[in-house]
Amino acid sequence: MTRTNGAIHDPWLLTPGPLTTSLTVKQAMLHDYGSRDRRFIEINRRVRERLVEIIRGRDSHECVPLQGSGTFVVEAMLVNFVPADGKVLIMINGAYGQRMQKICEYHGRSFEAMTWPENEPVDPSALDSRLAQDPTITHVAVVHCETTTGILNPLKAVADVVAAHGRSLLIDSMSAFGALEVDSRDIRFDALVASSNKCLEGVPGMGFCLAGREALEITRGNSDSLCLDLYEQWRGLENNGQWRFTPPTHCILAFDRALSEFDAEGGVAGRGARYRNNCRILVEGMRELGFETLLPDEFQAPIIVTFLMPDDPDFRFQDFYDGLSQLGYVIYPGKLTVAETFRMGCIGRLDESHMRGALEAVKAVLGR
Ligand SMILES: *Cc1c(COP(=O)(O)O)cnc(C)c1O
Repeated sequence: MTRTNGAIHDPWLLTPGPLTTSLTVKQAMLHDYGSRDRRFIEINRRVRERLVEIIRGRDSHECVPLQGSGTFVVEAMLVNFVPADGKVLIMINGAYGQRMQKICEYHGRSFEAMTWPENEPVDPSALDSRLAQDPTITHVAVVHCETTTGILNPLKAVADVVAAHGRSLLIDSMSAFGALEVDSRDIRFDALVASSNKCLEGVPGMGFCLAGREALEITRGNSDSLCLDLYEQWRGLENNGQWRFTPPTHCILAFDRALSEFDAEGGVAGRGARYRNNCRILVEGMRELGFETLLPDEFQAPIIVTFLMPDDPDFRFQDFYDGLSQLGYVIYPGKLTVAETFRMGCIGRLDESHMRGALEAVKAVLGR
């Protein structure tokens, strides 16, 4: 707990997740619903429908929710959509792309990796030649915003290349979904995954897969995991409105509330605008204090910003982190091989005032 102007509150989370949520989202959890409660079944239906609406996929797409953190649904996407005799090409420019590779190794799925440096977006033209050379690749997997650095990958261009070659696209949009537009009428994909707690500002505990209906229908029997079987989860929800195993009821109640707050803010446009403003204030302010960003502005997504560790021998990250934390701001270490870095997020229920507060805190800690 931290004190600001006499008020006690939890620390502000300038991290890639878990993230700060609104009081009203937390309050929505103060109920115990049975999984067969009519109200609960109705809320599930509404949540799934709203998520499909975000990609304008009412006539073409389905939403399958899944218990667990975001990685659970990334793994579920790969094991459901890439059949045992398929081969997935994974575009990697950070830790989350590498994680998809590891998932394929665990499940013995055939894959190829194409790798770029962490500070460069993946390249659709290189993908184009690779797909032309290798007709055995059935699927392409890409990370929308690589949270490792905060870099934005060119999703639309990747999707166009994949579609031109008649292959299937799988998207990890975990850290971008809700803040960056994905219109299913414009960007063709078989499956996209995200979670309750990133840009949609619910509490952590569940992910969801938005899948093309026809692509989902042919995944029956593909999953080599019982818990991660999205096809069966979908059939269960369609048949009787039930999740197959204990649903994260409180998390779903909070998510429903979070989606109302998302709509009230103006959906993707409104949410994206707040985050872009947060990001701009943070980057400008940190640059004024002498910090440098890893990425040039053109590659930066308004999600999380990677700063280079200052050269100054007096700068010790642990002291910096602890100092900020005492003032109520939690930042995140870097996760890079190319440089010593740390990260500051601009997503979650944070606005301009929190960004300015964080900059004040940075200034105060540097002054010590
Ligand atoms: C947060 C995130 C995930 C999921 O991480 P969990 O810790 O399992 O919730 C997956 N991919 C990306 C790009 C992410 O930012």
